[in-house]
Amino acid sequence: MSNDGPSANEIARLRDIGIMAHIDAGKTTVTEGVLYYTGAQHRIGKVHEGNTTTDWMDQEREKGITITSAAVTCFWKNSQINLIDTPGHVDFTAEVERCLRVLDGVVAVFCGVGGVEPQSETVWRQADKYDLARLAFINKLDRPGADFFAVVGQISSKLGATAAPLQIPIGLESEHRGAVDLVTLKAWDFLPEGKTGRRMEEIELEGELRELAETHRAELVEIASNHDDELADRFLSGEEPSLEELKAGIRRATIAGKIVPVLCGSALQNIGTQPLLDAVVDYLPSPTDIRATTGHVPGNEEEELERKHYSNQPLSALAFKTAGDQHGNLVFVRIYSGLLKGGSRVFNASKDRKERAGHLWRMRANQRENLEVAGPGEIVGVTGLKWTRTGDSICDPDHPVVFEPPRFPDTVISMAVEPRSNADREKLAHALGALAQDDPTFVYRTDEETDQLVISGMGELHLEILKDRLTREHKVAAKVGEPRVSYREGVREAAEARGEFVQQTGGRGQFAKVKLRVEHFPNEEQDHLFFEDATKGGVVPREYIRNVEAGVREAAMSGPLAGYQVINVKVTLVDGKAHEVDSSDIAFHAAGALGFRAAAQQAGIYLLEPIMNLEVVVPEEYMGGILKDLQARRVEIQDLGYRGHLRLIQSKAPLAEMFGYATIVRSLSQGRASYTLAPSNYAEVPPNRQKEVLARFGL
Ligand code: GDP
Repeated sequence: MSNDGPSANEIARLRDIGIMAHIDAGKTTVTEGVLYYTGAQHRIGKVHEGNTTTDWMDQEREKGITITSAAVTCFWKNSQINLIDTPGHVDFTAEVERCLRVLDGVVAVFCGVGGVEPQSETVWRQADKYDLARLAFINKLDRPGADFFAVVGQISSKLGATAAPLQIPIGLESEHRGAVDLVTLKAWDFLPEGKTGRRMEEIELEGELRELAETHRAELVEIASNHDDELADRFLSGEEPSLEELKAGIRRATIAGKIVPVLCGSALQNIGTQPLLDAVVDYLPSPTDIRATTGHVPGNEEEELERKHYSNQPLSALAFKTAGDQHGNLVFVRIYSGLLKGGSRVFNASKDRKERAGHLWRMRANQRENLEVAGPGEIVGVTGLKWTRTGDSICDPDHPVVFEPPRFPDTVISMAVEPRSNADREKLAHALGALAQDDPTFVYRTDEETDQLVISGMGELHLEILKDRLTREHKVAAKVGEPRVSYREGVREAAEARGEFVQQTGGRGQFAKVKLRVEHFPNEEQDHLFFEDATKGGVVPREYIRNVEAGVREAAMSGPLAGYQVINVKVTLVDGKAHEVDSSDIAFHAAGALGFRAAAQQAGIYLLEPIMNLEVVVPEEYMGGILKDLQARRVEIQDLGYRGHLRLIQSKAPLAEMFGYATIVRSLSQGRASYTLAPSNYAEVPPNRQKEVLARFGL
């Protein structure tokens, strides 16, 4: 890399990819294999160090390579592969979205026995949403019952994708030993090397296997030609494409999302990993293959800005994960354009704050590497950023750009958590703090009335996972309560009321009087409360106005109906009175709170409930049953369409009706339907329901 940063050619050799799979398909084992072989290759380049490759590989394997980082960089042949850890859970949260956003391509791992299971469908559909180019790896072909072609069939029939096998396996179950590469028509055996490694050796392709391979190669050429114009021209004129032409055609069709090349092997036996790495380099996109990334001018969502993956553009990057380790907090960013330099001044356009980047770290399997500068497409961990959190845009101070409005949906569901023992109390608070810092869609607070810790998040599954992380990662034993809907309160009419805090009996007293108007005021702002001062002639001295506002805001956090936050409200300070000696910050704070409560009561308060965007993707034959069930849940169906060959139901669903939906949807569709549930807005709870909810709180 020169001083001007990486050239377009160098950027074209980068791959930013994620490995996706349903639990147990082999994501961890495939990742280990990738690091094992790329690490080995890295080592081969340093033969003078005297270690043989296999020795090093075996030591690493015994140690257990750590792959817990947000992203790991490895090198294969002439290319750099950044493997980004995508959250395994399927709940639709801002975090999943951001991780997918920083990927350019995906390796989807399927189990050669289980095939396309419901959870792999869910994961696949998430990648559909982001138009991510994909390769499929059919794993576990060494297991009894493995069936490569059955899984290829399911990729087409269940996922609606055009599967294009690039290989066929040699032997299955205990006989599985290698694969035929259909592009080159070469057969490869994977021979043991060292304790666990394998070396590829070409074997004669003959007899039945040759015939089978030729048939499948002809199919591959046909599939690729059906999805690539240049190959189609060749195909129609009856000419055989050259090897380079075929590869280029497969690459174009893969990047365009028209076909999914399929590879095979057994990650556990180390069979198939090297060809998978070759395919990542050959067929998945580099940053330069992806269209420019668009963002907008800070504070103006209408004005779009484009950032291209070139070193000579202004810096732009997105923070997609934060992680604390023994060296301090690392913020992981993906750079879209320009150069990020260690020690440089940058601008956090989402928070409107200048920042100084400390060191830049590229995470490797067994060490981390300090970089002075990182260019487009790079994924690095940055130290020293004080304000930057997941989802923030980092850029050149002179060319600010925001990649996504930094607005997180409100949390909609909460549960009480209690430490199992007093000894765990401090650990619990500390662990919750750490979880909240890394996940902007998770918050916790202490309920003043019950003195309980309450955690809130984006859905049932989201809180389940956080609960799990408390025990697994933070080793805190905690009891959790039932999940509860986070309601809100709204005001019906406009009303005015006074708030007075006066105590003047001897000595220095307290004196503050205010008159407030509250009214319904729908707004999209995060704090949901708009405050305005309309007093004239300094009846309330300027320095006290912010105390009135603070008192109002505090009171609005705990509404008069059932203690939920009051939202969509405008509060105007219309009048007031101060006393030269006895007025104080505290007095006006109290008067503001009292005035707000009184005015809100007069205006009439009602309960608001979170409404979710619910998308269900379901095979046609189960659609009727799913719809019938949704209608019984006050769900408003908005659109019935298609995603691939499956039906897509789009609707608005009250969260209160959706507890345990995962189980219900599974039983109504024999596990074939998948769904996402994301917060949309708040709506008034129907009056009879409101009575039931309040009765549950003893109100
Ligand atoms: P993950 O949950 O997707 O990360 O899956 P893992 O990589 O942890 O694998 C789940 C289980 O399947 C582990 O017990 C692995 O040893 C096993 N496994 C992974 N790949 C293979 C394979 O190719 N063949 C066999 N027989 N087992 C495998």
